[in-house]
Amino acid sequence: MMPRRHPQPLPRRQAGSTLNPQQGGSASRPVPTVAIVLPAYNEEAVIESSVTRLLALLDRFVRDQVMTRGSFLCFVDDGSRDRTWSLIQSSHDRDSRVRGIKLARNVGHQHAVLAGLLSVRDRVDCAISLDVDLQQDPAAIPEFVAQYRAGADIVFGVRQDRGADRLFKKWTALAFYRLMSFLGVRVIPNHADYRLTSQAVLQALAEYEEVNLFLRGIFSQMGFPTAVVHFTVTERRAGSSKYSPLKMVSFAWEGITSFSVVPLRLVTVTGFLVFFLSLGMSLFILASSLVGNNTVPGWASTTLPIYFLGGVQILCVGLLGEYIGKIYREVKRRPRFIIEQEVGHEKG
Ligand code: UDP
Ligand code: MG
Repeated sequence: MMPRRHPQPLPRRQAGSTLNPQQGGSASRPVPTVAIVLPAYNEEAVIESSVTRLLALLDRFVRDQVMTRGSFLCFVDDGSRDRTWSLIQSSHDRDSRVRGIKLARNVGHQHAVLAGLLSVRDRVDCAISLDVDLQQDPAAIPEFVAQYRAGADIVFGVRQDRGADRLFKKWTALAFYRLMSFLGVRVIPNHADYRLTSQAVLQALAEYEEVNLFLRGIFSQMGFPTAVVHFTVTERRAGSSKYSPLKMVSFAWEGITSFSVVPLRLVTVTGFLVFFLSLGMSLFILASSLVGNNTVPGWASTTLPIYFLGGVQILCVGLLGEYIGKIYREVKRRPRFIIEQEVGHEKG
């Protein structure tokens, strides 16, 4: 499946130029038009203060030539049941740089971010996703844009410390990243969904049709030039967290099962181990009955089949798992390749 062509080809990084985000130097891409995408679920307590702060920041960013005058905020109301949407509407009436989309029902943070990113993809050079409570420091945005201008298509925000988190969240997060890397899922530790993506990446993202969405995994395995920006996390100023411990566990589970077939493979491996164990036991019993005959009569004929059949069964389940793993990859219909640049191929 070919990625859709961009409506307006973006100025791209020169072939062969090296990405050297840390040194700043001469920026190769022009000042971009940026959309800041903010998912919001029952956030009436924070919307207005966030709008005020972000618009003030936008003014500053435009003045400092970080982004163009056409840059804007895109709120995604994720099926809120409070006044979130009407507050977004009234903010838009006051300032047209506040835009928004309202989802018909609550679809969860990941899908809300996706909806926002896809809705702005043809209007901007890059989009930055950010939580509406502004726990993730929006003052770091110029650094994201600097990395973009230096050539990065995906800039991952990585939190500097977990000072604002309780010990429980710190440890569970660490365990999650360890488990993910053990299962072969590429994710950037301590990267939440504070991230800049270029228009090229947004167009590629539209090719991912999967319903079980784990954005961090998708962006980590896309293959565009990436960079990292460190930022600080603060306490939530108003409202309450929409991520209950149960939602966090289901998010982690989603991440693992959307990107790894290793759990299925572990079944196959277990089957093999039990199978070989039963073979080893057979040899041992045979040898001991030949040598000393000190086995209890009937023991071997009862126990061995249990191990043997157990091994065969687990092995068969694992074998089914291998095929299910293949089906799972097929039904996701992920793009098989993403074209990053083209030359002499513009109009077909
Ligand atoms: N959010 C959302 N849909 C949901 C849950 C959360 O859009 O079903 C948004 C929420 O409004 C916020 C962001 O996702 O902008 C992160 O949520 P929250 O701040 O509650 O999580 P925490 O920072 O406590 O992990
Ligand atoms: Mg938060």
